[in-house]
Amino acid sequence: MKVKYLILGAGPTGLSVANYLLNNGEKDLLLLEAEGEVGGLCRSKDIDGAPLDIGGGHFLDVRRPEVCEFLFGFMPRDEWDSYERDSRIRFKTFELHHPFEANIWELPEDEQQKFLDSISEAGCNTGAKKPEKFIDWITWKLGDKIAEEYMLPYNRKMFGDNLNDLGIYWLDKLPDVSYEETLESCRQKKAFGKQPGHAQFFYPKKYGYGEIWLRMGDALGNALKTSEKVKELNLTDRSVRLGDGTQIEAEFIITTIPWSSIELKNAPQEVADAAKSLRHTSIEVTYHEEDMDTDAQWIYFPDEDKDYHRILVRKNFFPGAKGYWTETRSERYRQAQGSINFTSEYAYPINTLDKPNQIGCILRFAKENGVYGVGRWGEHTHYNSDASVQLAMNLAKELLS
Ligand SMILES: Cc1cc2nc3c(=O)[nH]c(=O)nc-3n(C[C@H](O)[C@H](O)[C@H](O)COP(=O)(O)OP(=O)(O)OC[C@H]3O[C@@H](n4cnc5c(N)ncnc54)[C@H](O)[C@@H]3O)c2cc1C
Repeated sequence: MKVKYLILGAGPTGLSVANYLLNNGEKDLLLLEAEGEVGGLCRSKDIDGAPLDIGGGHFLDVRRPEVCEFLFGFMPRDEWDSYERDSRIRFKTFELHHPFEANIWELPEDEQQKFLDSISEAGCNTGAKKPEKFIDWITWKLGDKIAEEYMLPYNRKMFGDNLNDLGIYWLDKLPDVSYEETLESCRQKKAFGKQPGHAQFFYPKKYGYGEIWLRMGDALGNALKTSEKVKELNLTDRSVRLGDGTQIEAEFIITTIPWSSIELKNAPQEVADAAKSLRHTSIEVTYHEEDMDTDAQWIYFPDEDKDYHRILVRKNFFPGAKGYWTETRSERYRQAQGSINFTSEYAYPINTLDKPNQIGCILRFAKENGVYGVGRWGEHTHYNSDASVQLAMNLAKELLS
């Protein structure tokens, strides 16, 4: 079997590449998905009368107009509600809005003073050299008090031992608030500085986030094959082999699946080694039927006695829903048996110090051979779905031209 475009993985990235190509007249394409349905990490299920996002809480950031316009082509704007982000951090007996350093003003005054003193002594404010490791950067940037109360325990929960190996090249994902902006926020009692993503976001009115991807899957008709797991990717012959032995060749292969999860054929040793060295973490999403008395859409929990690190409160982005769900890194998970729980093995790509070299080595060799890695797993980068869709659209445009 031979096709012009063979796309691996029907999460947001693969679905976007396929639909963009199809919308632009390319009909000779095939999208393969291992699971029985499309959507990848962005799938939802109806649980207890409302959607639950089984790969964790998912919201569409409003910041990329081209992406929103493309997605609204499948699920019109009037089917989405828009929200202002209300996310909080709970530590000890306190609760404040995220990001911590912009909302210290919400703490009692004596606590504010302790945090401000600590930030004023942080390395970035005393001229110390910027560290290369994330774990050292935390104290350098935010001071030892935010590090001890929030950032270190929270990130230990998120990354486990990997925390010691993370670089700092991915920190544009994080808020950026200077000491002066923190002081200003305490004076004026409102947040200053660069806020994190999703300051404003969309969530479907009647469905979970998974709905948009189901519709994109439907739009592909026979060009989509689900329950077809790719076992082997031949990097020089531009072909794949499926579980039943079927081989498919293509002019272009676009892969959005984790490089470490498939057998690579004809890969030089350094490419094969680089693929094996890529690390990731897994996540458990667990439903709880009790209601929570809060207006926050989600709350971060640095307390290491709790296994979960984040709670999502459904009624605050899906009016009328009850209950909440927790998100827990799989290695820490110890919740009651029998609870409604979903596991995503590939949840977070890990930004180790060496990762840019490793993924760079894989992507260069693959591209020279007509195989393109794109999206969260294709590039092994911590992209949100809007960024993944943007990258997918960019790649489709490149291939078309
Ligand atoms: C907890 C959590 C919260 C997040 N919150 C947000 C948010 O609020 N907003 C946001 O925009 N983004 C969020 N993201 C990021 C978002 O999930 C990703 O950006 C998005 O899913 C990337 O899409 P993708 O298609 O690249 O990867 P995926 O969604 O992982 O899709 C990959 C697809 O490939 C398939 N596949 C894997 N192996 C094979 C194989 N061998 N053969 C065939 N198919 C295969 C998988 O089954 C899957 O369908 C969050 C992620 C996590 C983990």
